[in-house]
Amino acid sequence: MDIGTILQKKEFDRDDIITLLSVDNPADIESIRAAAESVLLSECGDAVFYRGLVEFSNHCDCDCHYCGIRKSNASINRYTLSMDEIISSVKWSAHRGYGSVVLQSGERNDAGFVDFLAGVVAEIKSATVSEKLPNGVGITLSVGEHSRQAYERFYKAGAHRFLLRIEASDPKLFASIHPSAQNLERRVNCLKTLRQVGFQVGTGVMVGLPGQTVENLADDILFFREMEIDMIGMGPYIVHKSTPMGIHADYFNQRKDKIFQTALLMIAVCRLVLKDINIASTTALQTMRSDGREMGLRYGANVIMPQTTPAGVRKNYLLYDGKPYLDDDAKLHHAELQKSIRSINRKIAVDSWGDSERAIRRSGR
Ligand code: SAH
Repeated sequence: MDIGTILQKKEFDRDDIITLLSVDNPADIESIRAAAESVLLSECGDAVFYRGLVEFSNHCDCDCHYCGIRKSNASINRYTLSMDEIISSVKWSAHRGYGSVVLQSGERNDAGFVDFLAGVVAEIKSATVSEKLPNGVGITLSVGEHSRQAYERFYKAGAHRFLLRIEASDPKLFASIHPSAQNLERRVNCLKTLRQVGFQVGTGVMVGLPGQTVENLADDILFFREMEIDMIGMGPYIVHKSTPMGIHADYFNQRKDKIFQTALLMIAVCRLVLKDINIASTTALQTMRSDGREMGLRYGANVIMPQTTPAGVRKNYLLYDGKPYLDDDAKLHHAELQKSIRSINRKIAVDSWGDSERAIRRSGR
């Protein structure tokens, strides 16, 4: 079937998704991009939602083979921001009209971490109540796998969205990038628990993993659909040299352009298949190309997570090599970003939590 015929369909099957993800010529890519943009505009509107991203700790008990802050990487300084430092980053973004924040860190399951984070969430909520945000900023957590009790505490403290990437929904591929102590089943169960606890749930994968096929990517999208995911954070896999997967640096460098294009196509096809969810245009896209985040928006994404981590610790939160904006002035980038979003005819939503249309519909609001 040709691309034009597939794009006219309302529902897509696995073969359609594989065909869409396999396109290679500029005209077909542009047709898919334009179709995704039009679904975005009709299902969600033209707003781009900001989340101020605070990478509040790089301590991690996990040893993911791809990740720069994995436990076994002894070459980085470990940090955890204080309550005051986190609150001041959050206030910086709230003052600029970012209605939501994302708190991200490595994974720690000890009681001290859970207590600390529950306290931080509650404090952010009370510190950000204003006329414009009567319930404070919206809080998304991205802190890995935890017990139901811990998730409940975070939720009760006031966080209402949670991002936990499945990374790869194929069991073999998942196993090839994680130590055996980490498993796919537990991750899927965490996603189910998060939903039961009440969170809006986000997940995602890395695109361009060694050994990943276009069929794997199609199955990832079917997994998102089956799990009725509210939001997606997804981006290219980028090598970090001081990790076990650092040996793939040549493989990665040779295929960079293709990986970037496939990551954009994944955004577009997720938009076409899943329609009313939120999709983030991630820092990893921006790492591969300076206009990568804007490209993500043009392919159907509607969320951007500007960096608001204090500059002093950013260099210790390198999940992959080449991460941008390590030591310069966030304010400058704020203005730059406003301009580039306007230049692609989108508007920035201010003082809004920016929940996905899907989550709003589900809650009957
Ligand atoms: N510890 C938390 C959040 C921090 S990692 C968690 O596990 O959920 C956030 C995301 O960064 C991961 O889910 C992963 O998809 C992505 N990431 C890690 N290393 C990466 C790399 N080398 N290239 C691209 N993305 C990476």
